[in-house]
Amino acid sequence: MQHPKEEKTFVLIKPDGVRKGLIGEIINRFERRDLKVVAMEMYQPSKAEMDKHYPKDEKWLTRIGERTSGNYQKYGHDVKRDFGTTDTLKIGKEVRKWLVDFMVSAPIVKIVVQGPHAVDMVRKIVGPTMPHLAEMGTIRGDYSADSAISANIEHRAIYNLIHASETPAEAKHEIQHWFGKHPVFKYKRFGIDE
Ligand code: ATP
Ligand code: MG
Repeated sequence: MQHPKEEKTFVLIKPDGVRKGLIGEIINRFERRDLKVVAMEMYQPSKAEMDKHYPKDEKWLTRIGERTSGNYQKYGHDVKRDFGTTDTLKIGKEVRKWLVDFMVSAPIVKIVVQGPHAVDMVRKIVGPTMPHLAEMGTIRGDYSADSAISANIEHRAIYNLIHASETPAEAKHEIQHWFGKHPVFKYKRFGIDE
């Protein structure tokens, strides 16, 4: 049984985060919250690597499509006009393609963050997917203002700075995918581990 302090999550600073010069600021948000960086690398992913990173199952795609569609309804825009369909699976597939294209458009920074409830803590520090719904004090709330609808009109993904694993199982899979056999480091942080 793993000690709660050993929970790990995978964080990826997206191309917009790198291009906005926010690498240091983003890492600082985790470190100042007493979370520990245990692996990190700047990296140019290939399209194939990015394609493997994001889930492909119908459930995930439909969820993205449903959220996109819901957002269009909420703000009085016509999803059919922009996507040519109201089928949430098809919409999800289209958004996924834009996402993969965006994620390979500049280098990313891949990071493993460790600490109690690392997965939930990091998601909380990052804030929700849609920047306009992210509270001030979260990374997305402080540094992004993109909207899904402007993104979709321009046929691109939302620029929201960071990816963070949603569950410990997803984190395990993503750490394996992005760091493989490379070591995730072990060290004691002053004041936290001793
Ligand atoms: P991430 O998985 O990147 O941490 P998330 O878990 O907050 O973000 P998901 O619902 O998993 O959000 O969506 C993955 C990513 O797909 C989002 O971060 C965003 O960049 C992009 N995305 C989601 N919905 C849309 C949309 N309607 N239009 C454009 N891009 C979208
Ligand atoms: Mg996600």
